Amino acid sequence: MEHIFPSHEAHLDGPLFRNARLVLEDAAQLINCDPNVLERLKRPRKCVTVSIPVRMDDYSVKVFTGYRVQYNSTLGPYKGGIRYHQNVDLPEVVGLAALMTFKNSVLGLPLGGAKGGVAVDSSKLSRTEKQNLTRRFTSEISDLIGPTRDIPAPDVGTDPQTMAWMMDTFSQERGGYAQHAVVTGKPVEIGGSLGRNHATGLGVVYIAEKAFEKNGMNMDGSRIVVQGFGNVGSFAALFAHQRGAKIIAVSDVSGGIFNGDGLNIPELIEYAKQNKTIKGFPHATEIDNKALLELDCEALFPCALENQIDTDNAERIKAKIIVEGANGPVTNAATKILTQRGVFIAPDVVANGGGVIVSYFEWVQDIMSFFWDEEEINDRLKSIITKAFETIYRFHAEKKVDMRLAAMAVSIQRLEKAMLMRGLYPR
Ligand code: NAD
Repeated sequence: MEHIFPSHEAHLDGPLFRNARLVLEDAAQLINCDPNVLERLKRPRKCVTVSIPVRMDDYSVKVFTGYRVQYNSTLGPYKGGIRYHQNVDLPEVVGLAALMTFKNSVLGLPLGGAKGGVAVDSSKLSRTEKQNLTRRFTSEISDLIGPTRDIPAPDVGTDPQTMAWMMDTFSQERGGYAQHAVVTGKPVEIGGSLGRNHATGLGVVYIAEKAFEKNGMNMDGSRIVVQGFGNVGSFAALFAHQRGAKIIAVSDVSGGIFNGDGLNIPELIEYAKQNKTIKGFPHATEIDNKALLELDCEALFPCALENQIDTDNAERIKAKIIVEGANGPVTNAATKILTQRGVFIAPDVVANGGGVIVSYFEWVQDIMSFFWDEEEINDRLKSIITKAFETIYRFHAEKKVDMRLAAMAVSIQRLEKAMLMRGLYPR
């Protein structure tokens, strides 16, 4: 792709962010967005890069690079996950922070958008090394985050334990008083919410049910393919399996497995827990990750990483419905090809919104120090996520635009209103 940014704006030049900006510009045109608002929405507010020296188990010191990008706080405190992955760089974090801004807005949450990450393959760290890394990273960004400022959460490579270390470090640095509301996605014992761990996967399935319904199809008995078997993919597979779908293939970073009669997902989850991979699961044949995306099926849930479906493979995708569990798995150009071919795409900003919705519930519960039961959380999640889907779907049907563009348009309509009301400081 052509590089359109000068060198001082190299942090804006990542594929994920370029895709998001293209959709943003199209959506702005569609709703006649105020040009000054658009200019502001096209850039992150603050990007911070930190060096993180970490004591390794052999007593050597390794220095890692970490980022926190605060994209927009018009609607409320910044909110967005922390990713540990070897490919993390500033342009990627900028793209993910922008997506969080548009996601929180389209879901109607009182939150701004942010994202963070560290360039590290955390599977190569021991538990102690991961804890050391997390605590020092938290300390380096400690002035930026806080319950009323910026509230991180887990993403790829981080989990509830990572959030527990972040919350503890932040609290220790402020006199030792417990500050539960500084991060979400924590274990329930220390202010986490019931239902948070499975929330993104459950949200994916609530949205998939809606997508099936709108396309005159039924999830029960359908064939579904899931790419990625981590937090999002494994729970999405499980909830779809519980609703009668046949999950015919799933994959993780080691490759994919296939069974045309449907995989036993509860057994596969147990297998993956024990073996740290799905590779070698009995009653299935191996399939590579590229071929898996092109399998004949009713629905495909890409739940791994961004840019998995692009102009190279879009023509060969056979699914009728794609529900974006991951952030940015289908590029903008591929969206156009797939939409022309009649494939229905439920875009990431709503499809994987379950995580941030229940994170929002967790933050609210922490502030109140009053906790809800799981049924209440799942019901409230369903209500918010399906309402957002219906609003986007109405816009898509009325304006005859794809769901990704519709979602962006609905999102920036809300941001535009709020930005115009707040005005520009100083003026
Ligand atoms: P995770 O680390 O728990 O799982 C990621 C999974 O993807 C793993 O199974 C990994 O093996 C697999 N994977 C990695 N590279 C792959 C590849 N090239 N091909 C196939 N599989 C591959 O991460 P997660 O929390 O499940 O997040 C997955 C995606 O969902 C990310 O895009 C993340 O930003 C997005 N997301 C997560 C949440 C959440 O609450 N966890 C919320 C919203 C969006």
